[in-house]
This record gives sequence, structure tokens and C-alpha cells, in this order.
Amino acid sequence: MLLWDCTKNQSTMLCWSMWSWHVRLLAPKLRDEEMQKKLWLKVAQHVIRKENDIAKAMKFLKDCSILKIEDILPFFPDFATIDHFKDAICTSLSEYNAHIEELKQEMQGATDSAKNIRADIQEIRNKYVMVNSDTTCELCGSRLLVQGFYMFPCHHAFHKDCLIPEVMRHMSSEECSELERLLSEESSGSREGATAMARSSTKAKIDSMLGSQCLYCGDVMIMSVSQPLVPPENLEKELLNWK
Ligand SMILES: [Zn+2]
Ligand SMILES: [Zn+2]
Repeated sequence: MLLWDCTKNQSTMLCWSMWSWHVRLLAPKLRDEEMQKKLWLKVAQHVIRKENDIAKAMKFLKDCSILKIEDILPFFPDFATIDHFKDAICTSLSEYNAHIEELKQEMQGATDSAKNIRADIQEIRNKYVMVNSDTTCELCGSRLLVQGFYMFPCHHAFHKDCLIPEVMRHMSSEECSELERLLSEESSGSREGATAMARSSTKAKIDSMLGSQCLYCGDVMIMSVSQPLVPPENLEKELLNWK
């Protein structure tokens, strides 16, 4: 309100200085950049329409970092020639050019990292591990090759049947039911002759649930640090074993 009264009652020159002074004082305190811009636009509008001094308006634009030439162009009269704005337009264009260069560099960086990620994924797809006939399951200790198994890049290997209950211990009830549904779909699919595409889709979903990370090296192990080594329901049985 103080700013508004000032334009009505004081001389034009004094008003502009007062407006500028008040906005300079207030602007840094206003966290909302939109509000800062609105205040500066009010001052600019006053400088251009009331004082009708384009040179002063250009000087004002130089002093105020938040406004650009395109923000204040609508305030100028129709007869203003482009000569007055030449410098401001050139500065604005070079700022835009610099910004476009920055964006180009960012885009190039994003493209490069996407390329690297694609290369990494391809490398992982082509990665293989040799399994010896005497390699054993990390959970049950019997030979790995006697049934379906998962082997992780860290070389930890688990029978699929041994891995399922261990992974399920760390899943939510919804994930457990989904995994059970997929496993029954997989076994019924192979019995009832489901299409190859349906079978491979089910298998891919099971693989993503069971094989997304190693039981011993993945997040599951870190998350289970706070859990007791022996589940409470097995505690008595475990105590009897120790006697
Ligand atoms: Zn096993
Ligand atoms: Zn591992």
C-alpha cells in the first residue's frame, strides 16, 4: 500500500527512486520469485508509462537482474523504435544462447550416460559364469546341478526350491501371494501346455522376483541386520539342538 500511495502522491522522479528503493529492500526478503518479479514489473511499468524515458528504462533493466527485455516490452508505446532496445535485446539473446548451450551440454551428458547404461546392460546380458559339477547350493549344501538354480554375479548359487522360502521371508504378504500364484501358474502351465510366450512371461516375472539380487549380497541381507538370527518360532527347536 505504501508503494501504491507513493505513485499517486509524490513527484514522478521521487516515486521511481522510492519504488526502486522499496523493492530492492523487500525483494531479497521475498522468497517467492514470482512476487519479486511482480513488484519489479510494477516499477518498470511506472518508469516506462509515467516517465516515458526509454533510456532510463534500459538503465533500470540493467540494474534489475530478475527482469528481461521481453517482460517489459508490452509497456512501451507503439512508436518506440528498435534502436532503443538494441543493446538489451542483444544481451537477452546472448543470455538465451548461453542457456541453450548449457542445456545442450546437459542433454549431451544425459545421452552419454544413457549410452553407458545401455552398454552396461548389454555387458551384463552377455556375462556368463562357469559352474563346476561339484559346485554346491549355498543353502542346502547339495550339488547345484541336480535341479534348477540361480547363480548371481557374486558367484553365490542357490537351488530355486531352496531360494523361494528364503526370499519369501523378506517379502510382503502381497508379494508372497503373487510369487505363489506365479509358481503355480508355471507348474500348471507346463502340465496344461500353455503357449511358449505365456510360459516365458511367467518365468521372467518369477526370475525378477527371485533373481533380482543375491540373497547374501543384496539389500535383503542389509535390511535383515535388525532381525534375529533365529526366528522366534524356531527358537525352542534351535535351543534343543544346542543341548
Ligand atoms: Zn539347495
Ligand atoms: Zn552374493
